[in-house]
Amino acid sequence: MVIMTHKIAVIPGDGIGIEVINEGVKVLNCVSQLDPKIQFEFTHFPWGCEFYSKTGRMMDDDGIERLSKFDGIFLGAVGYPGVPDHISLWGLLLRIRKSFDQYVNVRPVKLLKGAPCPLKEKSPKDINMIFIRENSEGEYAGSGSWLYRDKPNEVVIQDGVFSRVGCERIIRYAFELARTEKKSLTSISKGNALNYSMVFWDQIFQQLSQEYPDVETHSYLVDAAAMLMITKPERFEIVVTSNLFGDILTDLGAAIAGGMGLAAGANLNPEGNFPSMFEPIHGSAPDIAGKQLANPLATVWSASQLLEFFGYKEWAARLIDAIEYLLVEQKTLTPDLGGTAKTADVGDAVVAYLQKHFA
Ligand code: ATP
Repeated sequence: MVIMTHKIAVIPGDGIGIEVINEGVKVLNCVSQLDPKIQFEFTHFPWGCEFYSKTGRMMDDDGIERLSKFDGIFLGAVGYPGVPDHISLWGLLLRIRKSFDQYVNVRPVKLLKGAPCPLKEKSPKDINMIFIRENSEGEYAGSGSWLYRDKPNEVVIQDGVFSRVGCERIIRYAFELARTEKKSLTSISKGNALNYSMVFWDQIFQQLSQEYPDVETHSYLVDAAAMLMITKPERFEIVVTSNLFGDILTDLGAAIAGGMGLAAGANLNPEGNFPSMFEPIHGSAPDIAGKQLANPLATVWSASQLLEFFGYKEWAARLIDAIEYLLVEQKTLTPDLGGTAKTADVGDAVVAYLQKHFA
């Protein structure tokens, strides 16, 4: 038996991040127990806002170098009242994403059976998409200027950065996924108003589509796409879009696919030159932190993405089955999903499901 040991850096972060990541690690340990070929070596890092309040830094100075030695990063949530969002975001999450060139953000928008959906008349067969969001440039590249500060003629400029390499690699990733999954690919842009960046994006999408004649393609303007995600979500299968549009539309996606407690995201460096990072997309939720009220299912979903990235497709699917089972059964759910279970009870129930079906 060939045993694969994956070195995972665990950054629980702040607030409910600490509680939900415990459950994610619990579930991954259960997978190792049931399938001894898959082993994880977890190393915890105490970085986040509490660390910042003690040290003035969101992570150790050599943090990136230390993380670079790992195969993957499992992150809870970052942010806490008192630490400005731009500090917590740029000091940890974005620093990791940028340093490790995690240019692909994979966000499943899949309505599982039993999950709440605000769209009446829509069911799991209608909401089953994977968003591929560009994760390294666009309006989030951090480029711009702030002129004439505090003067009446004060001006700020936030650049949208779209490079040929950046657009091609994300669009190509999406085409490859669509080809493998035998699904259509939709590009979401805004070429009519953003007459440089989005015209360029559309042009690259069009050019690359010539190399993938087997993939059915569609292009929508972002405003129309937002409307269609509500009225006709079944139109979308694999979706590729820019950093800003992806950020907004995937939250809309979370809202129609069960809410924040079920939304996960993977930040990938597909070439494997650097570690990729897996996280639930919700924040640290200070309002419910430390009370065992947080729903860990999004974190279990991100553990599933981690397993899939390392090539364990079957186990990845089994974790999603476990989540769906709990949603349908309605017995062990946290209050956000109408239940009374504690965070740890939900993790235990996922483990119990896996042990019962796959021991
Ligand atoms: P951020 O500003 O970084 O997004 P946040 O925690 O304020 O952080 P959200 O993640 O959007 O924002 O969460 C908003 C609210 O949704 C939380 O305050 C909490 O009440 C609820 N929530 C979010 N995640 C969960 C979860 N996993 N389980 C239960 N409730 C959650």
